Amino acid sequence: MNEFQERQVNFKWHEPKKNYDVIIIGGGGHGVSTAYYLATRHNITNVAVLERKYIGGGNSGRNTTVIRANYGIREAVRFYQHSLELYQTLEQETDRWIMHKQKGILWMAHSETAVRQEKARAAINTAFGAKTEFVTPKQIQEICPEVDLTGGGVWPVMGGSYHPEAATARHDRVNWALAEGAMKRGVHVHQNTAVTNLIKSGNRVIGVETTAGPMHADIVMSAVGGHVTSLGKMAGLRLPIRTHPLQAFVTNHYEQKFHPIVASTSLLTYVSQTARGEMLIGAEIDRRPSYSYRSGYHFLQTCAHRAMTMLPFLRQLRVLRQWTGVCDMSPDYSPIMGKTPVDGFVITTGWGTWGFKAIPAGGEQMAQLIATGETPELIAPFSLDRFAKDRTKADRGSAGTH
Ligand SMILES: Cc1cc2nc3c(=O)[nH]c(=O)nc-3n(C[C@H](O)[C@H](O)[C@H](O)COP(=O)(O)OP(=O)(O)OC[C@H]3O[C@@H](n4cnc5c(N)ncnc54)[C@H](O)[C@@H]3O)c2cc1C
Repeated sequence: MNEFQERQVNFKWHEPKKNYDVIIIGGGGHGVSTAYYLATRHNITNVAVLERKYIGGGNSGRNTTVIRANYGIREAVRFYQHSLELYQTLEQETDRWIMHKQKGILWMAHSETAVRQEKARAAINTAFGAKTEFVTPKQIQEICPEVDLTGGGVWPVMGGSYHPEAATARHDRVNWALAEGAMKRGVHVHQNTAVTNLIKSGNRVIGVETTAGPMHADIVMSAVGGHVTSLGKMAGLRLPIRTHPLQAFVTNHYEQKFHPIVASTSLLTYVSQTARGEMLIGAEIDRRPSYSYRSGYHFLQTCAHRAMTMLPFLRQLRVLRQWTGVCDMSPDYSPIMGKTPVDGFVITTGWGTWGFKAIPAGGEQMAQLIATGETPELIAPFSLDRFAKDRTKADRGSAGTH
């Protein structure tokens, strides 16, 4: 428990019941968000969220909190712009201070090819509702004076894109605010309750076996992050997901004057500043698939070097903390949301390294699907059957380093 949870959030814990209308497996952002929107938009409150550890104990409490919509394909730009807008009003909606702060993201280009990519990003974003413009090196210097435009003499900055509505929000506050909002309306959240198997009747999932005993429901949703292939196996599904670790680190305190989020596709690194003043630095997934939460020196060394190439002032700072999460990577780098071939079993997965920003819209849309039985138009392109139908949604703009 941190100070926010102890002092500001009101919880009413419940005893597990044997029957619910909806069971959500996984108390990360997507699980609690779906429960929140089921309760607030559809008045469906006979819902249980089952979390094997604690709320936000997975990736939703260990990410670098970047919220943006400057994606690379039409369907993603529309979806993430909607999520970005839901985040902008989430504090009023939940009456909780999630520390949402609009910062803008600068995406720097160090080659002619990268310049073309950033111009294309600005064009497609503008066409589908996200504000992104191409910026010159001079404009980059004005937005972020700390950037070394020579790129250490090796990676000169030739331009970039700027997406002013990009923001950050405190990740655990987002999780707890949504969980509290759902619980206030009657949703049960059971922590320390792991799902060990699914209960099936023919081709239908009708409940779950848990460490607290069996529970039944009309609909079971998997929102288990990097552990989705285990859940899929319990349902008899083979999902196109590989789990890869993703690491990040923070430095010690730096004067509170670093405003934007700065990213570079060529250098595979992005940097922002936390409300505590730490410089927060992230990168790409570890190449080898694994469920390991172990942090490594090789990552730290290469990532720190790249970040210092963009922002030389980082050399004065020391590494304070490093951590890892395990990400559910889909083959096309887009999420997978919706129905499965198994009746009564829906999934939200493939959130990879980009799912924090999707928490409000992902939850809202999955709640609508569960409540109505119909797949909402906004998420229809991200259904599981796109792989069988050869309708993949390859998105080079999905990760902060693509
Ligand atoms: C280092 C790092 C940086 C990132 N940076 C960003 C970023 O800047 N912006 C962004 O948009 N995204 C970012 N992400 C990705 C983002 O954090 C995830 O995509 C998102 O949090 C996924 O949310 P989720 O609810 O699907 O999964 P999770 O938050 O992982 O929640 C899944 C939950 O399911 C539980 N669970 C698993 N198995 C079971 C079971 N059998 N029974 C019960 N419970 C179970 C787990 O304990 C976990 O709490 C980052 C990720 C990492 C690791």
